Amino acid sequence: MTKLGRELSAKGINVISLSVGEPDFNTPDHVKNAAKKALDDNYTRYSPVPGYPELRQAIVNKLKTENNLDYDISQIVVSTGAKQSLSNVILTLINPGDEVIIPTPYWVSYSEMVVLAEGKSVYIDTDLESNFKITPAQLEAAITPKSKLFMFSSPCNPTGSVYSKDELAALVKVFEKHPNIFILSDEIYEHINFVDQHESIAQFDSVKDRVIIVNGFSKAFAMTGWRLGYIAANKEIAAANDKLQGQTTSGTCSISQRAGIVAYEQGLESVLEMKKAFLRRRELVYNLLNEIPGVKTNLPDGAFYFFPEISSFFGKKDADGNVIKDSSDLALYLLNVGHVATVGGDSFGNDNYIRLSYAASDESLVEALRRIKEALGKLS
Ligand code: PMP
Repeated sequence: MTKLGRELSAKGINVISLSVGEPDFNTPDHVKNAAKKALDDNYTRYSPVPGYPELRQAIVNKLKTENNLDYDISQIVVSTGAKQSLSNVILTLINPGDEVIIPTPYWVSYSEMVVLAEGKSVYIDTDLESNFKITPAQLEAAITPKSKLFMFSSPCNPTGSVYSKDELAALVKVFEKHPNIFILSDEIYEHINFVDQHESIAQFDSVKDRVIIVNGFSKAFAMTGWRLGYIAANKEIAAANDKLQGQTTSGTCSISQRAGIVAYEQGLESVLEMKKAFLRRRELVYNLLNEIPGVKTNLPDGAFYFFPEISSFFGKKDADGNVIKDSSDLALYLLNVGHVATVGGDSFGNDNYIRLSYAASDESLVEALRRIKEALGKLS
């Protein structure tokens, strides 16, 4: 959708993009300055495969001070973004035929990475009514002797849902009965959480050793282009990820790593500023979405997405008589008629929804929601 949106823009059409998953802020100056200094200091050579020890130590410190989690640097593997970390974990853990349990909606790449590893995704469906969160009973029902990994994000892309400590504790009770299942906890949106402090499933001692935390710098520090992520895991999994990465990408960009050290050492001031803007925009979009007949939404607890239900438009026709059959059709219609780029929920495993990113200016959000309302009003 982003690509189609760019093509329309190239034809001179004013398209508002609510389709991309990245903060619309610039990387904070102190982080940029650290990168400039890294160049001047000649951090321009190959770095250690799992990352510079100073960066891994900064990550260990962050996990202790922000999350009260104990790791040592042998358990940290820095990568070319959380995406590579997810891929490393899946490729090292999953053998052909292994089952990976994934709540829907999920971030698009999860299921495709499982395909690459020749595993099998087993989905647990959630919906608006459950705030897009699974129950322990649903988890229990999805487990089979072939279950190898459970993977989820909290805060979630695409729904913004955040699991509370109690909800995680209830899931942990199920995992305690199934000691062979690993848990991949994607915490990339950790700092964009409007309800509470971030809760990691790794805080529960009974499962910590089989939790793999994936996190990174893209969202918290508006560093999507720098490609910097990491895992925190038990030593064996960390060593396997290191080994795999050593034969594929090697250590990630030396300059990004030096900047990452400063990002973590200098604290969260810039993140809190960004979060304030996201909170304001969340209210704005929530109110505007609620004014659109036929659209249902919840108030997401984190990240910067809405995942409204739009199935009431299925079966309706546009001005040329084309029928809207699914969420992709609706997203295409919104792009071509409303000139707003969104993403159909089918990409995330739930077809009755679309995803809107509110990482855009207040003015463009107001205009985008006006256009969406107008375009949907024309369907009959
Ligand atoms: N996990 C989730 C849930 C994401 O939304 C994204 C980015 N859209 C990533 C991982 C990948 O992040 P990175 O830029 O660090 O590769």
